[in-house]
Amino acid sequence: VDSPTTSRRPATLGAAIAQWRTLLGDQFVICDPAALRRAGTATFATTASIQAIVRPATRSEVAAAVRVAVDHRVSLYPFSSGLNWGYGSRVPVRDGVLLDLGRLNAIVNFDEDLGVVTIEPGVTQRQLHAFLRSRGGRFWMDATGASPDCSIIGNTMERGFGHTPAGDHAAQACGLEVLLPSGAIIRTGFSRFQGARTAHVSRWGVGPSLDGLFSQSNLGIVTRMTVWLMPAPEYFQAFFFMARDDARLEPLVDVLRRLRLEATLRSAVHLANDYKVAASLGQYPWNAMAGDTPLSAGVLQELARRRDFGAWNGSGALYGTRDQVGAARRRIKALLRPHVDKLRFIDDRTLGMAARVQRPYRWVTGTDLAEVIELVRPVYELMKGVPTSDMLRSTYWRKRIPPPPDPDPDRDRCGLIWCTPVSPAEPRNVRNMVEIVHKVFARHAFEPAMSMTLRTERSVDNIVSIAYDRDVPGEDARAMQCHDELLRELTAADFYPYRLGIHSIGKVPPRKPSSQALLGRLKAALDPDWILAPGRYD
Ligand SMILES: Cc1cc2nc3c(=O)[nH]c(=O)nc-3n(C[C@H](O)[C@H](O)[C@H](O)COP(=O)(O)OP(=O)(O)OC[C@H]3O[C@@H](n4cnc5c(N)ncnc54)[C@H](O)[C@@H]3O)c2cc1C
Repeated sequence: VDSPTTSRRPATLGAAIAQWRTLLGDQFVICDPAALRRAGTATFATTASIQAIVRPATRSEVAAAVRVAVDHRVSLYPFSSGLNWGYGSRVPVRDGVLLDLGRLNAIVNFDEDLGVVTIEPGVTQRQLHAFLRSRGGRFWMDATGASPDCSIIGNTMERGFGHTPAGDHAAQACGLEVLLPSGAIIRTGFSRFQGARTAHVSRWGVGPSLDGLFSQSNLGIVTRMTVWLMPAPEYFQAFFFMARDDARLEPLVDVLRRLRLEATLRSAVHLANDYKVAASLGQYPWNAMAGDTPLSAGVLQELARRRDFGAWNGSGALYGTRDQVGAARRRIKALLRPHVDKLRFIDDRTLGMAARVQRPYRWVTGTDLAEVIELVRPVYELMKGVPTSDMLRSTYWRKRIPPPPDPDPDRDRCGLIWCTPVSPAEPRNVRNMVEIVHKVFARHAFEPAMSMTLRTERSVDNIVSIAYDRDVPGEDARAMQCHDELLRELTAADFYPYRLGIHSIGKVPPRKPSSQALLGRLKAALDPDWILAPGRYD
């Protein structure tokens, strides 16, 4: 939905910057070219330029900063922590000023009976996790595999997901407080009634529900949000499985859907292909490939044999009382075992024991148990809602330098582009989606790494990554061509992405004219000057 450019008065950026400086203090209005360049660097080539970064500290400062943007017709792009790697990081869709909400980082309220926490945009996974621990750990949060420094609200605004029964983030949030470009503040659900007792426990409230308007959109700035937590279970057990043969994909999808539908599995289950596992275990085997790309089937097979992974590799977890987990485990064994080559259940005790016996184990079997534990532990912890930065190492897959202790894919010019098609959780559809990915990647010489998640009982989100080295001349363009072709072929086959990066916007076939027009009218009504994140999700 494009802005009515003809009706726009010219922007007066210089005057806006002067006003922001008066309002927030010089140090919170950043115009230093080096800082703007850093903020304008993503994991792929981008074109939009960042004119300034504005960093308010309170909700009233946010409102005042927006007022200035409206008065001066300057485009404002909000972010919470700006670590939207693979989707554009903090780079806006078009030229504009960034509104950094990271300084609003209060945990406003925690109800220890209901398991709900109300937070501001700057609250990170690390912060919430530490807070819950400090309160005795009675409740667990969900965590993504991105980084402990990622925000909760930014991820939820993108409808991101994690690993626990609370993994579908937008489905676990309610009571949004939203600042509209007009300066009005609205609250969603029951929280729109002053003092409503159910403000933080019910999403719908009464009457039309507004929450959905503010994720993956450009209609408002979320300044507070309530998140529903899960109670720490009496017993937790993770399971890992592996199927060597690619032909097992169909029965696996069938069984996992069944287990999800009947609620034996209450959390997201993940299925990663061999390329994805290879990239999470280490870097591209440049020596074995004699410097050539893409990874050959032979070298991949050798890696899989040596590191013991299959064509499809899964993980999931069970949460509940010992009896509940025991019953679920028996059911999983009965249904899943016929279709996999390995199925292992792990809990705190077995993981601790493995850590203790790793030396004698290696001596007897020759297998490096420490290596296995190192690989399993971050995924295991993620399924308990513990954030980790371990997964970031995989973004260095094609780099010639090893991942540093403080990985930063933007800074280190790691190439990463996501494409995120969703399929019904049916074997035929999932196979069809996977085949399209393989066909397109074969034309572009990148590794078709896929991580599929049964985020819900009925659908599979496929996170396809194009990982490359931005320092190799021409790779930025080749990788984007691969993405564009992939998106085109997937949407032509009626598979649509769950989420768009700045690189995908404008490349998805338009919505039906009626919904397009409605969204245009909403944008025009709420943001008549097209100040807020113009272009985002258009
Ligand atoms: C190795 C790796 C693993 C990853 N794993 C996952 C994963 O498991 N799950 C997952 O979902 N993602 C994952 N990601 C992708 C991404 O890094 C995360 O989704 C991350 O949480 C997004 O960044 P952020 O939280 O800083 O959001 P931000 O960059 O702060 O926000 C994202 C966008 O949301 C909008 N927004 C943010 N805050 C507000 C607000 N207050 N009001 C209105 N709009 C707002 C803005 O348009 C902004 O550009 C992964 C990335 C990598 C590299």
